[in-house]
Amino acid sequence: MFKDIEAAVERGCEGRIITSTYQNFTDIESLKGFYMLMSDNNINIEIIRSGRKTIAIEITRDLRVLVRAPFGISDRDVQRFIEEKSSWLEKHISKKIEMTEQQKELAPKFTAEEIRQLADGTLTVIPERVAYYAPIVGVRFGKITIRNQVSRWGSCSSKGNLNFNCLLMLTPPDVIDYVVVHELCHCKELNHSVKFWSEVARILPNYEVPKKWLKDNGNSLIQRLR
Ligand SMILES: [Zn+2]
Repeated sequence: MFKDIEAAVERGCEGRIITSTYQNFTDIESLKGFYMLMSDNNINIEIIRSGRKTIAIEITRDLRVLVRAPFGISDRDVQRFIEEKSSWLEKHISKKIEMTEQQKELAPKFTAEEIRQLADGTLTVIPERVAYYAPIVGVRFGKITIRNQVSRWGSCSSKGNLNFNCLLMLTPPDVIDYVVVHELCHCKELNHSVKFWSEVARILPNYEVPKKWLKDNGNSLIQRLR
């Protein structure tokens, strides 16, 4: 039984505190299902320490488990907290996995032909938007490439070459403009500093709206590439 947990930890549960001190769990039998669930679904627990006063746990939309803890609390107490929350986590993670599976069934994967059409469409729209916004941002750009990426909506290299996701074709026009402006602003600022965001806001004062749209709807589109 102990070996199972060890294997589970090795396979997936990389949350630092859990891997280093899991032997100290008082009731390891009751945590076995929890560990297997975490491991089988490749879910890690991330511990984020900050100046906050209380400890809290959260399951994100993209199925990550975040524990937010004050600097002052010991690893042992963080671990005990996770232990106390394990059945809550198990229940909610199972539910989220089930919902994700259902969504996948509703929205089948894109075929190669569909992706090709999306890429063609994106290639007719994006360069025009880039050409429009580049002088407003005040940057020059290099090559524009359209990709079917599962990790990002766009990117900008230090040479000013731009990549855009073909799935942008399935998003509203203000989202396309937001991603274009976002990447062009990266030609000036290669990070997400306050300066970067104020530059985005200068060009698109309402950028929070398309940004939120992507956050809420982006994953379900990207899932269809996987
Ligand atoms: Zn960015």
